[in-house]
Amino acid sequence: MERDIYEEDHEAFRDLVKDFVKRHVTNEAMEKWDAAGEIDRDTMLAAGEAGLIGLSVPEEFGGAGMLQDYRFRTIVMEEVIAAGAGSLAGAFGIQDDLAVPYLVHMGTQEQKEKWLPRMATGEVLGALAMTDPGAGSDLRGIKTNAKKVDGGYILNGAKTFISSGTTADVVVTFVKTGEGNRPDAFSLLLVEKGMEGFDQGKKLRKMGFHGWDTAELSFTDVFVPEENLISGKEGQGFIQLMLNLPLERLSIGVAAAAAAQAALDWTVAYTKDREAFGERIADFQNTRFRLADMSATTEAMWAYIDRALLAYKDGRLSAEDAAKVKFWATEREWEVLDMGVQLHGGYGYIMEYPIARAFTDARVHRIYGGTNEIMRDLVGRQIVGKR
Ligand SMILES: Cc1cc2nc3c(=O)[nH]c(=O)nc-3n(C[C@H](O)[C@H](O)[C@H](O)COP(=O)(O)OP(=O)(O)OC[C@H]3O[C@@H](n4cnc5c(N)ncnc54)[C@H](O)[C@@H]3O)c2cc1C
Repeated sequence: MERDIYEEDHEAFRDLVKDFVKRHVTNEAMEKWDAAGEIDRDTMLAAGEAGLIGLSVPEEFGGAGMLQDYRFRTIVMEEVIAAGAGSLAGAFGIQDDLAVPYLVHMGTQEQKEKWLPRMATGEVLGALAMTDPGAGSDLRGIKTNAKKVDGGYILNGAKTFISSGTTADVVVTFVKTGEGNRPDAFSLLLVEKGMEGFDQGKKLRKMGFHGWDTAELSFTDVFVPEENLISGKEGQGFIQLMLNLPLERLSIGVAAAAAAQAALDWTVAYTKDREAFGERIADFQNTRFRLADMSATTEAMWAYIDRALLAYKDGRLSAEDAAKVKFWATEREWEVLDMGVQLHGGYGYIMEYPIARAFTDARVHRIYGGTNEIMRDLVGRQIVGKR
């Protein structure tokens, strides 16, 4: 079934993204990112220049002003993931879905003016640090804390698993500013690269996403000025996170569908090309059955995701809706990728093949952005009416 959610301006944007991919997402570039464990800044700047990042930054701050129309971001993900560059898609996602929205939706006028124009160009890269070493799912169990002092806060603690953590110039950081674990005991602070006592740590070695940095961050008596308190209001951090999490979860669902689509396309091409027992792999009945499964599952994923994209555009995508999309799509992604790896035989396990990279990248989709268990819990609670 053909998808029908894109309009003319989306397709025109797709041409632009394809052109960027042709020029910048080469095998050499991907090898370079994997070896360095990060996307180089020039690529991010080129993406800014081509208009591939900062999509939700309002036009007055130099962005594209696509605040609620996530279809443009979806096109970026589709094209970049189809080129086998999951790490680049991830780095774009952190900028556009996890960092920029806090400034666009919740930043003060000064914060917007200071950060957004340079975030739209890629001169400033962002990250979002919620997870403490001792608390991931249980966010209200974090120990990272900021004590109010004259003119700002003194921040102490640590974060881990922070995507784009070493490359980020500014980190939206979830901290405790009050006692206990009531929702109003938390705030979001903008912590800047180079602040005294802020260590962006070393890159963590991961199973997948080798070209995208993930880091431990530590804060030792870091002075953060009060103008870096998101929204200028203390005690809003937990609510602010909850407001943006549907977007983060939708974005993971989109990445999952894009990866499933790419896996299907790679696998069709591969099985038509390779032969065994004098026939194309594609001509074995088992292969056709599996390709049919992959195709039907991928279409169902898009049907669901496309509906969610339109609901998001109209402001109707609830936290529970996004949680369902996230856990369901990432689990279908895993099934489709696994079938794709199997049909590639031994080559499916070799990292030079995009299917192998996509497979290892995909594993974390069921973990980050809230684990799939936490997503089910959220949805189940709503169903039975448990708070
Ligand atoms: C590559 C990578 C990138 C990441 N990027 C970021 C980032 O940019 N920013 C950021 O802040 N964080 C990031 N994370 C952290 C990620 O969001 C957390 O790892 C995730 O939320 C789970 O937290 P945890 O690791 O502490 O696991 P835990 O919370 O310790 O969970 C362990 C297991 O227990 C289960 N569990 C926990 N509580 C419940 C419950 N109530 N009911 C049922 N089961 C439960 C979990 O589902 C999981 O299976 C990233 C992680 C990875 C691996």
